[in-house]
Amino acid sequence: MTSWCENLLRFLFPPRCAACRTLLSRDEKYLCRLCAASYADAKERNCPRCLQPMHLCDCPSRFMEHKSLHVLIKLYRYRPQMRELPENKLIYRLKRANSAAVTDFLAEELAPGIRRHMKQGHEYVIVGAPRSKSAIRKYGFDHVEQLGKSLSRLLKISYVPAVRRIGNTGQQKKKNRKERLEAAAVSYCAREDVSLKGKVVILLDDVATTGATLTACAKEIRAIGARTVICAVIGSSFHYSEIEERKIYETARKRLMFPYQFKR
Ligand SMILES: [Zn+2]
Ligand SMILES: [Zn+2]
Repeated sequence: MTSWCENLLRFLFPPRCAACRTLLSRDEKYLCRLCAASYADAKERNCPRCLQPMHLCDCPSRFMEHKSLHVLIKLYRYRPQMRELPENKLIYRLKRANSAAVTDFLAEELAPGIRRHMKQGHEYVIVGAPRSKSAIRKYGFDHVEQLGKSLSRLLKISYVPAVRRIGNTGQQKKKNRKERLEAAAVSYCAREDVSLKGKVVILLDDVATTGATLTACAKEIRAIGARTVICAVIGSSFHYSEIEERKIYETARKRLMFPYQFKR
């Protein structure tokens, strides 16, 4: 049952697809049919490492694993060079549009993955990886903080801005792997007035590429007392190289086990 008030709101502010901005029909929520299908497909694609659908996979990047971060919750694989894909448009709009529909949709999607890791008897908080000052100046908001606050309402756990950005090393996306690691290591600092003693921290970011940002923030969070850090992102893009690495590894192993197959 819809009231005249709802009808009027729909007339004045017709809801649009969070990804492609086309007008939504009454039976569509957040995404249009086409975007919803592509998005569902991205979520269900299997992780090459654990073979689970991406939204159920917890695999961290190799770099994160080396730094004792063993859980990375994600929704799908982010492919930055394919911006026209609906799931990638969502990340693009999360960063730029300051739209409640985009933020709330992604928070609702990410919540089940985080709930999966929540156990009775632990105290949880959400901490966002802070956006750079220059990006906040440019776009006017911190998208990870907004996502974190939306998640905080959904999961009923508090959002704590425990990490702040120091210096300005520019945008991570323009850097190569080595530059990313170096820049991230000197870009984050724990707030002196915050204690996370005994808490389990859900560390949030938009995209994990090398895991450099998450690793640097986790180090700061652990320094102010957090007992465990669980990372969560919308998209991960490091699986690319892992597929390649895996292929190389598998081929090498086959060559070792079945050398006759490779003889010409
Ligand atoms: Zn759409
Ligand atoms: Zn996995």
